Amino acid sequence: MNRRQWMMGSLLGAAARAAAAPGAPKNIVIASANGTRACARAREILDAGGDTLDAVIAGVNINEEDPEDSSVGYGGLPNEEGVVELDASVMHGPTRRAGAVAALRNIKTPSKVARLVMEQTDHLMLVGEGALRFAKAIGFQEENLLTEKSRLAWLVWKKSLKDGRGHSNWGEGLASPAKKPAAWLREQFPKADEALLAWAWEVAVRPPSGTINCLALNTKGEMSGVTSTSGLAWKIPGRVGDSPILGAGLWVDQDVGAAGSTGRGEENIRVAGAHTIVENLRQGMGPREACLDALKRVARNFSNDQSKLAQFDLSFYALRKDGAYAGASLWGGPRPRRFAVNDGGESRLEPCVTLFDQRP
Ligand code: ASP
Repeated sequence: MNRRQWMMGSLLGAAARAAAAPGAPKNIVIASANGTRACARAREILDAGGDTLDAVIAGVNINEEDPEDSSVGYGGLPNEEGVVELDASVMHGPTRRAGAVAALRNIKTPSKVARLVMEQTDHLMLVGEGALRFAKAIGFQEENLLTEKSRLAWLVWKKSLKDGRGHSNWGEGLASPAKKPAAWLREQFPKADEALLAWAWEVAVRPPSGTINCLALNTKGEMSGVTSTSGLAWKIPGRVGDSPILGAGLWVDQDVGAAGSTGRGEENIRVAGAHTIVENLRQGMGPREACLDALKRVARNFSNDQSKLAQFDLSFYALRKDGAYAGASLWGGPRPRRFAVNDGGESRLEPCVTLFDQRP
């Protein structure tokens, strides 16, 4: 071995040791359970040396553009008037900047608009009509975000609303030939199969929760996060959940770590969950403990009354600056919630730690 080869060998050895050193930052992405593809995409960008915010936004765009994800972006379940309204927030650790949009209509990728609010304005958050006008001014095209699948689910929900006598304005008319709602739906949506109709009834009766939160750390110790959602299905137009609220649905502190959430936004806003978790990390709690503490604050707001708490779920995700991470949910049970992780290779789902075992 000549001197040059010896030096190269030592340098490579040092690099390998540095990469493996415990506590050293690494490329890692975590997300809510619907984010396995997002984590993989974000991780590819990190591995290519890309920016952490570029990575998480590109990851989340997969869900935002996917008509099959009925909780995010295009194809999201609409508000009570059948209009899809989207919320999103982004935070870029290295520059400590943030942006958000809420109740944004007709634009598929609210996370990109949130980023432009951060980069192109002196504001942090734009909502409703103003957010749409801003997006159009920047060059986004308006599109109808209501897919046939979501329109079906919305109509089923409208038909499920009954007055005190069990009557529905969207049901069979008194003078009309009796037609059961299921038969009517089959006529209206001839391509809908039994599985799709069953799904529509299910989401009408039990409005589902869903959102994507995605957090990234790179080998330089830089961190960013994004949360994007179509919010609560059948919400009152203009309702804003936790996802675009900085400190609730998302918080990144470049010195400490990042956190985000999915689930019932109203209860998260009341504990400023993501900010609480990052502050818990700063005080020395591990990611699991930090998330569980935020969930305990949610339970405390209901005096730990499990019959009330059983009516919703809420999940938190935390990524510490050294790469330690966790997902935590209010409720366990037969199918406990999971979250997505990619720290190399394929994304995997890991179980969330839960505050309560089983709904009463
Ligand atoms: N957190 C979202 C909201 O409250 C919805 C969800 O994740 O289910 O808007």
